[in-house]
Amino acid sequence: MRSKFIFITGGVVSSLGKGLASASIGALMESRGLTISLLKFDPYINVDPGTMNPFQHGEVFVTDDGAETDLDLGHYERYTHAKMGRQNNYTTGQIYDAVISKERRGEYLGGTVQVIPHITDEIKGKVLDLADNVDLVIVEVGGTVGDIESLPFLEAIRQLQSNLGRENTAYIHLTLVPFIETAGELKTKPTQHSVKALREIGIQPDIILCRTSRFLTPQVKEKISLFCNVEKEAVITAKDVESIYEVPIVFHQEGLDDRLVEMLNIWTGRPNLRPWDRLVKRIKNPKRLTSIAVVGKYVHLKDSYKSLHEALIHGGIANDCRVDLKYVDSERMEKEKAAELLEGASGILVPGGFGQRGIEGKIKAVKYARENRIPYFGICLGMQAAVIEFARNVAGLKRAHSSEFDVNTTAPVIYLMEQWVDRKKVVQKRDIHSDKGGTMRLGIYPCKVEEESLAFRAYNRKMIWERHRHRYEFNNGFREALTKSGFKMSGLSPDGDLVEIIELKDHPWFLGCQFHPEFKSHCMDPHPLFRDFIRASLGNKGVDSSGKRKKGRARSRQGG
Ligand code: GLN
Repeated sequence: MRSKFIFITGGVVSSLGKGLASASIGALMESRGLTISLLKFDPYINVDPGTMNPFQHGEVFVTDDGAETDLDLGHYERYTHAKMGRQNNYTTGQIYDAVISKERRGEYLGGTVQVIPHITDEIKGKVLDLADNVDLVIVEVGGTVGDIESLPFLEAIRQLQSNLGRENTAYIHLTLVPFIETAGELKTKPTQHSVKALREIGIQPDIILCRTSRFLTPQVKEKISLFCNVEKEAVITAKDVESIYEVPIVFHQEGLDDRLVEMLNIWTGRPNLRPWDRLVKRIKNPKRLTSIAVVGKYVHLKDSYKSLHEALIHGGIANDCRVDLKYVDSERMEKEKAAELLEGASGILVPGGFGQRGIEGKIKAVKYARENRIPYFGICLGMQAAVIEFARNVAGLKRAHSSEFDVNTTAPVIYLMEQWVDRKKVVQKRDIHSDKGGTMRLGIYPCKVEEESLAFRAYNRKMIWERHRHRYEFNNGFREALTKSGFKMSGLSPDGDLVEIIELKDHPWFLGCQFHPEFKSHCMDPHPLFRDFIRASLGNKGVDSSGKRKKGRARSRQGG
């Protein structure tokens, strides 16, 4: 077999940044000329995170092939060139589903179906499925060592070392080394315990990544090395950093990639980290500053808007600009003054979302952006909110709404298209009773961009492909009523049936898209819509809390 494998586990506490660590290791290996793929196992029983509340799980990341996956896949795509899809993320639910289906089909020939070997074999199969086309497969096991749920995954990766050979596999364990103020010391005990738990189930880590607020001294490294049975050089400081894009550089400085290629006996050149150095330099020394208000429902958990957050940062990088993000609760927006909540914002963004709560607040934010000529970017529900706002307040359709929120509205400008053709050209039907898990337009779809538009200026292309995740669509019955009043449909599906991008004629920068561009922004290649939105915001001085425009004029349509 061509591939080598790196398995990443986590200990002590969750949220140590295992996904970022895996993505950064991927980036380092690519910088040495290797081809890589990544795989994430999620120990929960849901079949996918699609039906989970963002407060529980954070963002649902959508891949080209329409899989609803863990947000770590977003990190993988933003840091590396690996293309993620359905085969890069499996949950316990999916693994059991596959095994139970096989059992029903009689594929186990009457045997007793058990966790070992049937579930573990299914897991191993998923790892090996990725092996043929790349030099290195990086497998991240979600959860924390010691959880009941992750045991079958850990057992499977344990077995893989005997199956594949020691020289082809490396185990990395990410732990926490806390600094205890009262003792003035870094403490290694949690790490010792976590590695002990890992060894009890038969995995001896080769490398220990220690998340910490300060550099580990040689003495601390020696202690961890002694108690955890790893070489001293294999104890790596994963120090907190200012920007997440520094992680690959910090890992390299600690010698992580050198250790890995040595352990796995891979011959590569020195890594080329110049693009990462340049990126971090740009992030740390921006020439300009802008402030963007994100008006949404899940603002209390930043993970809910992970890709969006990063795409805005990337848009800033493209403009040599730091982006201050202000998350505004759309429910508060319903009750309080828009001018006060949006004070100082040079750009307003309404992201995707589901459900009624806060919708009027989002529509109010759109109105504020439209009337005050503040650059506006509406994504998915944010585009739908812009359509509703325009229909109500400009086109005179006072009761306009989305049928998602008001089934009886007389002007359903956004509605449930009962019949549509999916990516595989299969006709899909749905109504309000359809199964929530299965009726969305998901994954990549083409869109034709009109030449005289903000969208064309951004993409500089007539045909684009973007990722979708929604049920409702623009209602074509209202095209005429809206265009008559200055509304523009600048992106349509190639057959002209689905409205994908909307703009306003008389506004410096106002754009809504039915798709989610944030899923395709890369730190080295910022998404053009985010780049242009940030650029437009730089030309805007915002308004003060009394609603008066500050001195200075918003830049022209081109965004300056
Ligand atoms: N709730 C809307 C729909 O289903 C928007 C979804 C979204 O913003 N991702 O169409």
